[in-house]
Amino acid sequence: VILIDSHLDIALNALVYNRDLKKTALQIREDEAGYTGKGRARGTIGLPDLRAANVAVHFVTCLARVHPNPPEDFGIDYRTHEAAHAHAQAELVYYHELARQGYYRIITNTAELRAHMAEWRADSANCPLGVVFTMEGADPIVAPDRVQSWWDQGLRVLSLAHYGPSKYAFGTGSTGPVTADGLALLDEMAKTPMILDVTHLCDESFWIAVDRFPGPLIATHSNCRALVPHERQFDDAQLKLLIERDAVIGAVLDAWMLQPDWERGVTQPDTLTLESVVDHIDHVCQLAGNSRHAALGTDLDGGYGTEQTPRDLDTYIDMQKIPDLLRNRGYAESDIEAICHGNWLRKLESVWGS
Ligand SMILES: [Zn+2]
Repeated sequence: VILIDSHLDIALNALVYNRDLKKTALQIREDEAGYTGKGRARGTIGLPDLRAANVAVHFVTCLARVHPNPPEDFGIDYRTHEAAHAHAQAELVYYHELARQGYYRIITNTAELRAHMAEWRADSANCPLGVVFTMEGADPIVAPDRVQSWWDQGLRVLSLAHYGPSKYAFGTGSTGPVTADGLALLDEMAKTPMILDVTHLCDESFWIAVDRFPGPLIATHSNCRALVPHERQFDDAQLKLLIERDAVIGAVLDAWMLQPDWERGVTQPDTLTLESVVDHIDHVCQLAGNSRHAALGTDLDGGYGTEQTPRDLDTYIDMQKIPDLLRNRGYAESDIEAICHGNWLRKLESVWGS
């Protein structure tokens, strides 16, 4: 079954973790032998693994944040929007270089998407990996009126905040409303077909954003609060709103979002399996009464590794176990195809037009 993954921070891994994503996960682990940081030598992804897992398209992020008091080893936290902007632009440059070398194909409209899928279905071994540009947290957008310029550069999905507050809204671990700049940003987005990714919004910002923004909504990597209580997850009222607005919700594989009471760095994935991912997918399908809104948004880009993933996933290639797990639960082939790739195709085509 063809897969589409709606959340991978590929450039973050190349630039901040300094990984050669053209290698397999196993080769990257060898490069990192002796490293001890989070996820080091335990990553699950390289571009060859995505190809082996039959991932025709993945959404890649630009990710940089503004932080009033960034740590000394700052990573992606900058003091200024100008620097965050520059970091995000560098991430675009990385993706364009992979495209120039034939590894990637950047997809920005329905014609490109359909042509890509046809080529992938005919001969995936010789087809570039399709990518859609997304931004996680809008801090690199220095002012609301810059949305159009990012659209012109191929950005198609934008989220307002990541961890903590941004210029535009309050993200995971913080609480507060969409800011005045955020409301202006949503109004600018509404002039384009830019999709609003509601992942990471705190509850207060979520409800303000979905009320203000009339355009398309998705959640690129979000799980269900009913199964694992945490404000990072969406409760059933939020999921129902997303379903009403024809959103697609990508299930994420980070262990603490799959299993209740997971303590990062302490709990080991002894009992956690990919069945838990299917639990979250199934919860969305049960709320919807159909399979049109659940999808995959794994976040398996190497920011965390096998210390924090289901134990029956070693590399990304094991994502191909998901279709079988859905089959075992009685999902029909058409439902499995919808969840694994069809819902993302439908959503992108409906937003982009023909
Ligand atoms: Zn995230």
